[in-house]
Amino acid sequence: MTILRSRVAAALVGAASWTAAEYGLHRFAMHEMRGRGLPSVEHLKHHADVTYFSPTSKKIASAAATTAVTFPVVLVVAGRRWATAFTVGLITMYFGYEVAHRRTHTHPPRNRYGRWARRNHMHHHFGAPMRNFGVTTLVWDRLWGTYDEPGAVTIPRRMAPAWLLDDTGEIRAEFADDYIAKGVRRSDASQVERDRADAFDNVAPV
Ligand SMILES: [Zn+2]
Ligand SMILES: [Zn+2]
Repeated sequence: MTILRSRVAAALVGAASWTAAEYGLHRFAMHEMRGRGLPSVEHLKHHADVTYFSPTSKKIASAAATTAVTFPVVLVVAGRRWATAFTVGLITMYFGYEVAHRRTHTHPPRNRYGRWARRNHMHHHFGAPMRNFGVTTLVWDRLWGTYDEPGAVTIPRRMAPAWLLDDTGEIRAEFADDYIAKGVRRSDASQVERDRADAFDNVAPV
């Protein structure tokens, strides 16, 4: 039972470690790098066009790369059993994050946490791209002083999630306290250019 408990503990530590990695990678490898390196390019493309998500193959490759780096280190520090459980926790939480992130863009919230997660992440996209780097938790933003309490988030209609707007392009009644829509839904070529430049400058889209 002690082994079981310690394996469960290792998996939980692994999952918690992912949330720190989520913050660190998002902030430093993606935003601070301003388009230098594949992770940064892929992520800032997602900021320029919020319907763009890296293909699954790249995500599996990055999970494999993460495992290749962390597993040997944890193995030396804590032994094989602990390292295996830690890695399972880490990678499980990573894929959980991928699903959670995508759902903030594609599906309406179903509970208080989901409501916070969407406002938090929409504020990151449309209010202040250099704030609120955590997607699944605010812990690391609080710790590093990058957390904004998301107020009513203003979103350009051309970038608004489908779940947020009704057929006339207005904010659905149930989200009226949380979001404000601005601009038009259609995007032309010059707008696409501007959105890309803003994304790579870490500036909120106008
Ligand atoms: Zn996003
Ligand atoms: Zn981002």
